Amino acid sequence: MIKTDILIIGAGPTGLFTVFEAGLLKLKCHLIDALPQPGGQCSELYPKKPIYDIPGFPEILAGDLTSNLLEQGKQFQPGFTLGERAETIEKLEDGSFIVTTNKGTQHHAPIIAIAGGLGSFEPRKPQLENIDTYEDNGLAYFIKDPEVYRDKKVVIAGGGDSALDWSIYLADVASEVTLIHRRNEFRGALDSVERVQELKLINKINIITPAEITALHGETKIEGVSVTKDGETKTIEADAFIPLFGLSPKLGPIGDWGLEIEKNAIKVDTVDYQTNIPGIYAIGDVNTYEGKLKLILCGFHEATLMCQSAYKRLNPGKKYVLKYTTVSGINGFDGSRKESPKAVVKAIV
Ligand SMILES: Cc1cc2nc3c(=O)[nH]c(=O)nc-3n(C[C@H](O)[C@H](O)[C@H](O)COP(=O)(O)OP(=O)(O)OC[C@H]3O[C@@H](n4cnc5c(N)ncnc54)[C@H](O)[C@@H]3O)c2cc1C
Repeated sequence: MIKTDILIIGAGPTGLFTVFEAGLLKLKCHLIDALPQPGGQCSELYPKKPIYDIPGFPEILAGDLTSNLLEQGKQFQPGFTLGERAETIEKLEDGSFIVTTNKGTQHHAPIIAIAGGLGSFEPRKPQLENIDTYEDNGLAYFIKDPEVYRDKKVVIAGGGDSALDWSIYLADVASEVTLIHRRNEFRGALDSVERVQELKLINKINIITPAEITALHGETKIEGVSVTKDGETKTIEADAFIPLFGLSPKLGPIGDWGLEIEKNAIKVDTVDYQTNIPGIYAIGDVNTYEGKLKLILCGFHEATLMCQSAYKRLNPGKKYVLKYTTVSGINGFDGSRKESPKAVVKAIV
């Protein structure tokens, strides 16, 4: 059982900034995310795009914003459960909660901060017979550890950035990479498309287009796939099949937690972004209230107020006085100390 002060569901920008704000109040955080990496929409949907409306950054790549947020929160030593979806919640008699993921990992916390954005991103699965049998048996919708594919025959399906980027990466890891797409054109960054073309010319990537995977083969794990092109079907040997058809966001299991939901978002008050269940907050894109704007900076603001409220909930009767970081400095949970240089007190005679 993982124990923490604030359990954050969703490691997007809002969830990551919550770690910092909670840390200033000496509260420890643990984050759960269905994706294998932190950053939410910023890392999954547009890591290479510049954002222009983050205060203090005239321009910053979404991927760099994620790295900066991780760096800023690192001193408060957050825990992560990645690649797992928060599935169920149980309220205990003392008012605390146990959240269990789809893989059975249990987390216990007195405060829950749902920062689930558009919901957990679910992979778009191809319609293939017995596909469930092969999941985690050679078939994967995300690549968590590319080393799994070392010296293996890998078939990737898809025509976007993920399919191109992983084909390029695995060309140096796998013994054989075959990229299959139902159109001749790929939609991705120009340099990725050109690199795939180069790797095709030196036989490091096989490309089959316009074609579709029509069947999966293997007793208990992937041993081959059927590819249909121009009405003809052939079977190719494969140790792994990776369909990369994008992700579709779904509010998912959180929608069944007894929270007040309006238009696929969680209703909160605007004092501290608490939901209808005391102790459960919803911040960032996942919440709704009058005048709501789904912007990163709004998520940061909501996270800040939510942490203050959580502190009061956890420390009833204790007075909290807001201190500027320039004045108080920062005491990291890792023993680090950041502070601005002290004023020199010296008489001028
Ligand atoms: C193309 C594009 C461009 C954008 N440009 C801008 C811009 O210029 N400026 C701006 O301010 N905003 C922009 N946005 C919007 C911005 O990305 C979002 O406002 C922001 O990502 C919201 O952050 P979040 O942390 O609330 O949610 P998200 O980034 O959506 O992160 C939520 C995370 O929660 C996880 N999650 C959800 N449910 C579960 C569950 N049950 N279990 C485990 N994990 C779960 C998801 O996997 C996800 O990683 C843009 C969005 C897109 C798509």
